[in-house]
Amino acid sequence: MTDWSTEKLHADYAQSLRVDRLLYDSETEHQRLRVFENPTFGRVLTLDDVVQTTEGDNAIYHEMLTHVPILAHGAARHVCIVGGGDGGMAREVLKHASVDHVTMVEIDGGVVEFSKQYLPALSAGAFDDPRLNLVIADGADFMRETQGGFDVIIVDSTDPIGPGEVLFTDTFYGHAKRALAPGGILVTQNGVPFLQPDELTNTMRAFTALFADATCYLATIPTYAGGPMAFGWGSDGDARHTTLDVLQGRFAAAGLDPFYYTPAVHKAAFALPGYVARLLG
Ligand code: SAM
Repeated sequence: MTDWSTEKLHADYAQSLRVDRLLYDSETEHQRLRVFENPTFGRVLTLDDVVQTTEGDNAIYHEMLTHVPILAHGAARHVCIVGGGDGGMAREVLKHASVDHVTMVEIDGGVVEFSKQYLPALSAGAFDDPRLNLVIADGADFMRETQGGFDVIIVDSTDPIGPGEVLFTDTFYGHAKRALAPGGILVTQNGVPFLQPDELTNTMRAFTALFADATCYLATIPTYAGGPMAFGWGSDGDARHTTLDVLQGRFAAAGLDPFYYTPAVHKAAFALPGYVARLLG
């Protein structure tokens, strides 16, 4: 009998992925970890049955939450990742030779250890990079106490339920802003606005109060079902307005070979359809 993993993140909309081989299924102190194999998406990581990342489409998400702020910034040396236990975000940040130091704050060490073993393609050696400083802590506590100085802060958390909830609060965003260096950029995983409109509206309300430039940008990741995913963007600088020509030069200099990102896609990602723009108020 064929087994399926059904995600019930939304009250009235669910997606199921066929489970051809279950590789891991266990509880940490924070959440239930599962990894299984699916013909289309390869290995799939779920936390509390919600798809976190897959070998097949993770590059879209990780490239858009890293290359967009880093190439827009143009001189990012210190990057902070909140969450990101699978290592995919660190993998993409560390492709930028210009980045000197990455602080990754993950609440659940079990996700890191488990991802190293069951999803090695996700981190692709990132956890062994000497530039990476892995901190096992609640990102909200870290951001309250850090000395900051980050050029880019990336929030790669679960959805605002369970341990991820604190990372969608005004308090956390205020601490993150304080932790940014001048001209720094905060970007956030902000859900699928067609199905999670309030998540984006709430974050944008907080960002608008905190930053001179507050908006979001979009990319469609197949296993984040329900339409394009929104990424929150907050900055007091003008990095979002970096021209296509400048992005193309920085992109060429970075020597990246992305699955999804291009400088033109970067610029186009900030063109918001009506229903999303209206959520920004
Ligand atoms: N790409 C996924 C998404 O868009 O939902 C996120 C993937 S990543 C696995 C999410 C990570 O956030 C998990 O490893 C989880 O343990 C971590 N996390 C959740 N709440 C956290 C918190 N308060 N502080 C730090 N990490 C947290």
